[in-house]
Amino acid sequence: MPTGRFAPSPTSDLHLGNLRTALLAWLFARSSSSRFVLRIEDLDQQRVAAAPEVARRQVRDLQVLGIDWDGEPVRQSDRLDLYRDAAAGLDTYECFCTRREIAEASQAPHGSYRPYPGTCANLTERERAAKRAARRAAIRVRAQGAMMTVHDRHAGDVTGAVDDFVLFRADGTPAYNLAVVVDDALQGISEVCRGADLLDSAPRQAWLATRLGFSPPTYAHVGLAINQSGARLAKRDGAVTLADLAALQIPAPRVFAQLCASAGLPQAGAAPQLLEAVRGSDWWRASEIWEPWIVDAGRLVRGW
Ligand code: GLU
Repeated sequence: MPTGRFAPSPTSDLHLGNLRTALLAWLFARSSSSRFVLRIEDLDQQRVAAAPEVARRQVRDLQVLGIDWDGEPVRQSDRLDLYRDAAAGLDTYECFCTRREIAEASQAPHGSYRPYPGTCANLTERERAAKRAARRAAIRVRAQGAMMTVHDRHAGDVTGAVDDFVLFRADGTPAYNLAVVVDDALQGISEVCRGADLLDSAPRQAWLATRLGFSPPTYAHVGLAINQSGARLAKRDGAVTLADLAALQIPAPRVFAQLCASAGLPQAGAAPQLLEAVRGSDWWRASEIWEPWIVDAGRLVRGW
């Protein structure tokens, strides 16, 4: 059955941009009678441990807006064996490079991601043994310069080069790109809706899906919320979480209506009413959905 998902990392509260992406992901699924699941991407245990209540607050904020999901939320930290098992048959190698070494050896960064230049791809056993004595290795997949094309609902066919990206970090934690692919496949995700900052990652992830024997999903990368300087919206930009806005006497239904307006959707007060209002329409053709959403937190607060 067609299935969509929202997959937040519980490292900080959901801000307006995250909530808008959640809303759109939910709407894509529910307006096409698909299943919708919630996945807590909590593999970065250090950051998660630093903010232990965040996952619970994220779930509550989604519920407050009327966003619902099927089944219990899945937590990646409960699924480590699945990722290890899935990766077992892949052609991989140990990588001893530091971030800095990669930055120095790679070409100009592509977005914020630096394709791995292959430094450790062909080390001899002796070189590896020497490096192991000094540092723990990350595990990279050998992609052999593959190219992969994905289909995005708005961007169309997008082709990207696949580098030898990390599957397991040096501390043994499965990396985001591995976990997301395994989970999207095992949860039967047919369309991945998420922020446009991840469009560049889609060819890499779809390629890995095919290597693991899964069919890649299609994608809907929606516009990111940005601040007035053009940087990604962050909590430090002001009152941008439901809790901040509630403290300013701005109730959730008004926030919800603003999220709808920002995406060119009928202004409803909660998710079920929005679903009713878009029924039967091609709501996703609204250009605002795909464009960056400039959030001036101060002005929004005054205007609400
Ligand atoms: N967990 C990621 C994030 O919060 C999203 C991953 C995805 O949607 O593929 O940025």
